[in-house]
Amino acid sequence: MTLRERDKKHLWHPLTQHKLHPDHIAITKAKGAVLYDDKGNEYIDGIASWYTCMYGHCNPYITNKVAKQMEQLDHVVFAGFTHEPAIKLSEELIKILPDNQEKIFFSDNGSTSVDVSIKMALQYHFNNGDKRNKVIALEGGFHGDTFGAMSVSGLSVYNGPFEDFFIDVERIPVPDANNFNEVKKQFEKILTDHKVAAFIFEPLVQGAAAMKMHEAAFIDELLAIAKNKGVVTIADEVMTGFGKTGKNFASEYLQNLPDIICLSKSLTAGLVPMAITSCSQQIYNAFLSDELGKGFFHGHTYSANPTACAAALAGVELLQSDEIQTRIERVIKSHRTFEEKIKNHPKVKETRQLGVIFALDLNLEMERYGNLRYQLFNFFMENGVCLRPLGSTIYILAPFVITDEQLHKIYTTIEKALDTF
Ligand SMILES: *Cc1c(COP(=O)(O)O)cnc(C)c1O
Repeated sequence: MTLRERDKKHLWHPLTQHKLHPDHIAITKAKGAVLYDDKGNEYIDGIASWYTCMYGHCNPYITNKVAKQMEQLDHVVFAGFTHEPAIKLSEELIKILPDNQEKIFFSDNGSTSVDVSIKMALQYHFNNGDKRNKVIALEGGFHGDTFGAMSVSGLSVYNGPFEDFFIDVERIPVPDANNFNEVKKQFEKILTDHKVAAFIFEPLVQGAAAMKMHEAAFIDELLAIAKNKGVVTIADEVMTGFGKTGKNFASEYLQNLPDIICLSKSLTAGLVPMAITSCSQQIYNAFLSDELGKGFFHGHTYSANPTACAAALAGVELLQSDEIQTRIERVIKSHRTFEEKIKNHPKVKETRQLGVIFALDLNLEMERYGNLRYQLFNFFMENGVCLRPLGSTIYILAPFVITDEQLHKIYTTIEKALDTF
């Protein structure tokens, strides 16, 4: 039996209607920017396996460090114990995170990092004797699939059956030059009853909303207003973190720094799951007390797993290396040239680019997981390129280490798709 056949027996895949889409491609190997399947086909990983393996698959610099760590200390409970990989990672992260970030809290994935951030914000007010129960989020935002994260997410395709069970969330449109005055008014109005605990947003790029991009200036003004009202601001950088926007963190484009930042995905360079919720000293201080109950009683079994910390440390080192920074610059230039070339194509409605993220909207109506979208996905795979269109948006977010040749192949395959569909 092939892997594809054996898969069907017991496995249930994420985000999949198995009746319509029973088949899954079996990947046996990955190296650099390339995935290899069980039939010997190669695919350029144009989305870095959901923006995780930004330094390339099976990067020996990272795998060696992790292997060494595994032989030294595999795991120890992080409540009551500590270890050097976590300590060193906290030191290195605080150096590169926005200036106001001081404390690092570990969890397991992007969704839990968001749940942690919401709980931190709610308890911050609770500990300060201020009962606030509402969160403001952006329309079209995506923050994960656990209950707290799902509550603040605005993408209804995922949320339908669960909406009656959500925490209290008010949603505002993403502010831009056209709507800013209205959005600002709406924002201020929601804040008047002093019930808003937090404002959560994906800074500059809404990933799951199809790489929608917005200017920093408008979010910045909302952040200033929020801070004025004592609202905890949360930047979900699970997707944008670690160099993808051309800066280490998208929050660096902001003047008003968020109180809390959520990180995961490429945090561990694509090796193992781990997440971090960082916060300012002010947030942390609200939990310091002689009262036990004012502490933050949230903890995951694998918190700060040493091997995951080792992977993250190696990733942070690579991110700051000249080699990776040069590659990031090169990808940015290359995307801009492609954008110029493609933007007036009759099938292209809009293009956008920030850092190594490039997206184009097709002049076609497509359901998010509709048939045409699957045909397009299959077309790319048959041409040796792994791109997962989001509705009618095709986006590229490849590993930084992708070669010029591989990037060129992605571009020409997209052009071929434009002529085919
Ligand atoms: C992927 C993502 C999440 C959820 O992360 P998981 O690890 O899949 O739980 C949260 N926020 C953003 C912005 C993301 O892109």
